[in-house]
Amino acid sequence: MRLGENMDYDTLRIEYRVVKDDTSSKKHMVPSLWINNECLTDGFTLDMRGLVASVKGNGQYDILTCSCGEPICAGISEGIIVLHHRDYEAKFVRWLIPHPIRDDSIVSV
Ligand SMILES: [Zn+2]
Repeated sequence: MRLGENMDYDTLRIEYRVVKDDTSSKKHMVPSLWINNECLTDGFTLDMRGLVASVKGNGQYDILTCSCGEPICAGISEGIIVLHHRDYEAKFVRWLIPHPIRDDSIVSV
C-alpha cells in the first residue's frame, strides 16, 4: 500500500488564542491541540517544548500542563508516553495518556 491510498487520516491541529490574565491584565497566548475537531487539551495547557521534544523519539513527555507550567498543578502526575513506529511507508505516533485525560490512546499519522 502506498502512502495516501485507502487510508483514513486523523487531523491534528494546533491553535493559539489570546487570553487576558485576570490578576495582571497582561495578555498571553495559550496553545491548544485538536485531533479530528476534538480538543485534547481542554482544561490544560499545551507545552510546546514537550510536544516538539516528543517528535524526536520514544519516551515520556510533559506535553500537557497547567497554565503556570507545572503539570502536577493541573492534576497530571505522569507525562504522556509517546511511541513511534513505521508501518510500510507511513510513520505512526501513539500517545498513551494517563488519567485524568479522557481518552487513553490516540493514534495519528
Ligand atoms: Zn498551575
